[in-house]
Formats: sequence, C-alpha cells, structure tokens
Amino acid sequence: MRQKIVAGNWKMNNTIEEGKKLTSEIVDMVNKEGVDDVKVIIAPPAPYLSTVVGLTDGANNVEVSAQNCNEHESGAYTGEVSVSMLNSIDVKYAIIGHSERREYFHETNEQLSKKVDALLKSGLTPIFCCGETLSTRENGNHFEYVSNQLSEGLFHLGEEDFKKVVIAYEPIWAIGTGVTASSEQAQEMHAVLRKHLSSKYGTEIANNTSILYGGSCKPDNAKELFACEDVDGGLIGGASLKAKDFVDIVKSF
Ligand code: PEP
Repeated sequence: MRQKIVAGNWKMNNTIEEGKKLTSEIVDMVNKEGVDDVKVIIAPPAPYLSTVVGLTDGANNVEVSAQNCNEHESGAYTGEVSVSMLNSIDVKYAIIGHSERREYFHETNEQLSKKVDALLKSGLTPIFCCGETLSTRENGNHFEYVSNQLSEGLFHLGEEDFKKVVIAYEPIWAIGTGVTASSEQAQEMHAVLRKHLSSKYGTEIANNTSILYGGSCKPDNAKELFACEDVDGGLIGGASLKAKDFVDIVKSF
C-alpha cells in the first residue's frame, strides 16, 4: 500500500506568530479528525522549522519538511541550510526541486540529484518535484520532459535508496494560477511516471512509490484528484495557509 500524503508548502509566507497559530490549528484539527491513514506534512520557512517541529511533537501523523536544503555538508555557503542542520532539529523531509527553485535559483537536475543524496545519507526523505511548463505541454513533450527530470534527478539511486523518495508532480502552469490540472491530466501523467519508475526499478517498487499532485489543489477539487488511481496525495501551496482548507484537503481522501 502506498503512503497517502498531504504536504503544505508555506513558501515565503507568514510571521512566526501566524505560523505558530496555523501549526497549532492544523495539529488540533488533524488529531480531532482522526485521519490516521494520511501523513500530513508542514513545510514552513527555514527560520520557523525548529518551532514547528516543537509544536508538532507528539502529534499524530504530522511531520515537518524543509522547503529546500544545500547539497554540501558544511562550509562557506552563506545563507544556506545543510541537511545535518535539518537533521539536528528533527526535520524529517525536504522539498527538492520545486519549480520556483528551478526557475529563480537555476537549480538543475544534476544539483538536485546531489541534494537527494545528501538527504538520504542523513535519513531524511526527499519530496522530489517535477513538472512541465505550459509551452512544453503544448508542444506535446510533457511526458518525456517530466520523465527526464526523474531520470536525471533520481535514477542514479539504488533500489533501497529510491524506495525512500516521494515524488510530487506539479505542472508549472497550475502552480498558484488557480488553474488545476484535470483529474484526467493528473492521472495520465502520474501513470506515465509510474511506468517510467517501473522501467528502472520494477513494478513492485514503482507501485509502492507515493506520487503527489501539486498545482492549485483546493478543498473543492482535491477529492476528484485524490480519487485517481495513481495520485497518492497532494503538495499544497496557497490552500495550506488556511488550516481549515488544508485539513479539508487532507480529509478529501
Ligand atoms: C506549490 O507551490 O507547490 C503549489 C502547488 O502551489 P499552489 O497550491 O498554490 O498552486
């Protein structure tokens, strides 16, 4: 059985007080709702990670993720956060290769593959993002483009390491735009990606890999998206900033 996951990416939003309130509300609601079969992940900005880890300590099924990490162990990388730093404050996940990082910070699949290695070496779980632009889709190259992101970012991993990775398919044209991929578009891409994983790691491993959908996922469309056979949850941006919306998405399973 694949792990169902709903992860909230706050991006560069919220004051610490707003972040504390949001975290406490999410923890309370998740505990009350008893959604035990869904792993809930909160990805706050780096300065709040330690506080959010403290607030989720002991909460049923709520974990904390970084939004990024550096691939180097330590050293002269001003402003960066290493995996060992994340590990030392009990952060269990890191979002890697979000399209905003690929676009604004010029992160390449090669660099991302090193970030994945650094995370796995320290026992953290990478949430590896992939997704195409609208023009790539319109040109009909989207399946090849996204499959290639997985090949270049992940396919150097051995089976045991690969089994620990979570994948998030996020079509760039759907992120923060209010335009969601239809459930048919999401399912079609997820199935292509799972087949691609299967060609490298075999059917069993591919069938056990969680592939999340991201891109304007909201309480009113999550149910239909999560009902798709190959969609194992969501990576949520805007709707993760309101506890009720976020937990309603969690409850959509
Ligand atoms: C995201 O940035 O990962 C995302 C899915 O954002 P939104 O839900 O706001 O489209």
